[in-house]
Amino acid sequence: MKLVEDICFKKKTVLVRVDFNVPLSKNGHVEDKTRISSHLSTINYIIEKGGKVILLSHLGRPKGKWNKELSLKILSKTISTEYKRNVCFFDQKIGSKKLIENILNTSQKDIVLLENIRFYDEEASGDLDFCKKLSQLADVFVNDAFATAHRKHSSTFYIAKYFNEKCLGNLFYEEYSSILRVINNFSSPLTAIIGGAKISSKINVIKSFLNFADNILIGGGMMFTFIKSLGGNIGGSLYEKKELEKAEFLIKLAKKNNVNLMIPKDSINSYVFADNENYKISESNKIPKDMIGLDVGPKTIFEYQSIIVKSKTIVWNGPMGVFEFKNFSKGTKMIAESVVSSTQDGAFSLVGGGDSISALKKFNLTSKVSYISTGGGALLHFFEKKELPAVQAILN
Ligand code: AMP
Repeated sequence: MKLVEDICFKKKTVLVRVDFNVPLSKNGHVEDKTRISSHLSTINYIIEKGGKVILLSHLGRPKGKWNKELSLKILSKTISTEYKRNVCFFDQKIGSKKLIENILNTSQKDIVLLENIRFYDEEASGDLDFCKKLSQLADVFVNDAFATAHRKHSSTFYIAKYFNEKCLGNLFYEEYSSILRVINNFSSPLTAIIGGAKISSKINVIKSFLNFADNILIGGGMMFTFIKSLGGNIGGSLYEKKELEKAEFLIKLAKKNNVNLMIPKDSINSYVFADNENYKISESNKIPKDMIGLDVGPKTIFEYQSIIVKSKTIVWNGPMGVFEFKNFSKGTKMIAESVVSSTQDGAFSLVGGGDSISALKKFNLTSKVSYISTGGGALLHFFEKKELPAVQAILN
């Protein structure tokens, strides 16, 4: 695996794929700069070693069309402040002479920022001619965008074959190795905590964990598909009809593989999908017809905590309930606190996925877990398939 230390950057132009897909407010203000600041180590390294950096990123989902609100121009100032460097934003077309000229006129220490790569249809379609044009801008390709590592797009996958010199950036490698540590080199018992709204997006990753985890703790809206598959009454709770059979299959597979797959025994139910104090606790398979389950109940929290404190490796993806509502945030908060306390006792804890990270932030626990992975989709893909297209591209 090639890393930045393996490449001589002196006098070379370096195309760095970063992930600047930051949350923006309605007036285009950057609400969280983490995704910008986290690439600092890679960018500083290349510039300090004499390389000239061209940054390439996507922002939002413009679907191949120009969109003023998603232009990377709006990030220039923040990037410049965060990196303490001059940023030259160029929106000329990839493949145009003007773009090459503009880049040539910048100094080695300037950072060149190209326009949102998803303004081009060719990005998602993996157009080889487009990749070739992109590759003509630089001598070296560095991929530092772990969050898009599961996508076979032009700038994340196909482009790599047009470079002889290519490697993973520091952030990418840090993310990659922390997940590899869970897959290849973990201490037992390993507990996976899987929550969130939809079971369909996580069913394959649960299946994959059934091959190596000791415990899988289910929470969030997806718990109700499991409960319904066992014949429980879930009232008006969220569930996915199409996934009922698969949920039943996972329960059977867990028994066969001797994995402790736990489904919440109780839930906190509300009459409406809104934050309110008019809630009732019931067994999770006996939810009244006119109620919906919005959080895991106290029995479940207690049971899950007793498993988490005994775990040596913990992976957490997806909240236990609608943590955005104060009255239904207790399950997520208490499980988060339990993960933190286990980490303090020496366990390795990896938390990934946008909502789990938001939950940790909300409870001020971000710095208290071992590693936070910013790439929810890439993380799930890696656990499921044990490979990532962006890594394969660098290896080939
Ligand atoms: P996901 O993107 O699949 O990880 O889902 C995250 C979302 O699941 C969060 O916004 C939570 O509010 C939501 N969620 C968690 N538990 C429930 C529940 N019981 N019913 C509905 N939504 C839920």
